Amino acid sequence: MDHFLYRDGELWAEDVRVADIAAKVGTPFYAYSTATLLRHFQLFDEALNWADHLVCFAVKSLSNQAVLTTLARAGAGMDVVSGGEYARAIAAGVPGDKIVFSGVGKTRDEMRAALTGGIRQFNVESEPELLVLSDVATQLGVIAPIAIRVNPDVDAKTHAKIATGKSENKFGIPIARARDVYAMAADLPGLNPLAIDVHIGSQLTDLEPFRLAYQKVAELTEQLRADGLDIQRLDLGGGLGIPYERSNSAPPLPIEYGQMIQETVGHLGCEIEIEPGRLIAGNSGILVTDTIYVKSGEGRDFLIVDAAMNDLIRPAMYEAHHDIIPVKEPVAGAEQTAYDIVGPICETGDTFAKARNMPPIKAGELVAFRSAGAYGAVMASEYNSRPLIPEVLVDGDQFAVIRARPTYEDMISRDTIPSWLQDT
Ligand SMILES: *Cc1c(COP(=O)(O)O)cnc(C)c1O
Repeated sequence: MDHFLYRDGELWAEDVRVADIAAKVGTPFYAYSTATLLRHFQLFDEALNWADHLVCFAVKSLSNQAVLTTLARAGAGMDVVSGGEYARAIAAGVPGDKIVFSGVGKTRDEMRAALTGGIRQFNVESEPELLVLSDVATQLGVIAPIAIRVNPDVDAKTHAKIATGKSENKFGIPIARARDVYAMAADLPGLNPLAIDVHIGSQLTDLEPFRLAYQKVAELTEQLRADGLDIQRLDLGGGLGIPYERSNSAPPLPIEYGQMIQETVGHLGCEIEIEPGRLIAGNSGILVTDTIYVKSGEGRDFLIVDAAMNDLIRPAMYEAHHDIIPVKEPVAGAEQTAYDIVGPICETGDTFAKARNMPPIKAGELVAFRSAGAYGAVMASEYNSRPLIPEVLVDGDQFAVIRARPTYEDMISRDTIPSWLQDT
């Protein structure tokens, strides 16, 4: 559930009219709901109440400072995958001991920054990374707390580009080799292997792949303890899916996910960490766009909107579905027209939806893409020299621009003309 609902014939974001935001900031824009962000965080927090736990928001899904600050104040930890995300988490007031550092390609500079600024644990993904991290920590005279990310070789049954837990994926260490790699880590001077990490993919709509993976992690925990390691913490990753298509999907709820975690690993007495991104941010955001033209084609009508694939790349990149609704509430029983909904960019891939049934839309009418909070703004680019679109945060009856739309001048001035091209 979220806080984008029709009331008095139009779409609201909490207690703000979406049309009022559009009038103030122009289109297109992203709008996020504070109440939805907090509610989703709390659902996970409550689902793990049976254990010591930390919910670490996956910063990569939505990294605006105002969103991170909102979640940090509610007590969230953060899962970061780059030095930039680490800096964002720190700037949002997240203490270092609530920040987990994931990712297959951490650099020495990133390791040094996190070891100096404070870190809960590194999720290490390879043997070479173990050696480098131990070296960096030793040089700094500290011990790096680590988990090793294991690859459990389970099929997450999700889109190929976001499946990460099969043996052919680039992520983690094959679980069959994990004992040897933990033994190696335990022998290195700069490391404290205290946790196990697993993350099998994103947008999972079934608990079974998680269950298989967590059962394997439970077995591994017992083996490692028998080997003499003090495994105190399990990081079970993110990946729980959301209902992008509300009419026909109902993925498992956080409470069911939390119960399954208790069933599979609860007996081990470990502290539990999870790293949800999409389920916290996804339905907390909408993308609002204006209809520029309605164009009749052969056998189909096109809605040409002012948002494009550079603003929201998920349909082009993952064949993703977003529910698209008019901001003006359609009258009950309105006839439906099948539209191809497209942006202005010169690529056929700039298509948001094909033959989508909608009530009739006229040029100048606003439409909203639902479930656009996660992997939306963070994946945007300025392709076609379209300035990054603004982000707006709503809280009750107030809203604020949390990232402004750059002007053309701002955009151009980021480039530098070398001396030999400057007029004298
Ligand atoms: C992307 C990612 C997440 C978040 O995944 P969601 O599907 O957004 O919940 C968590 N952990 C790691 C290591 C990731 O790469």
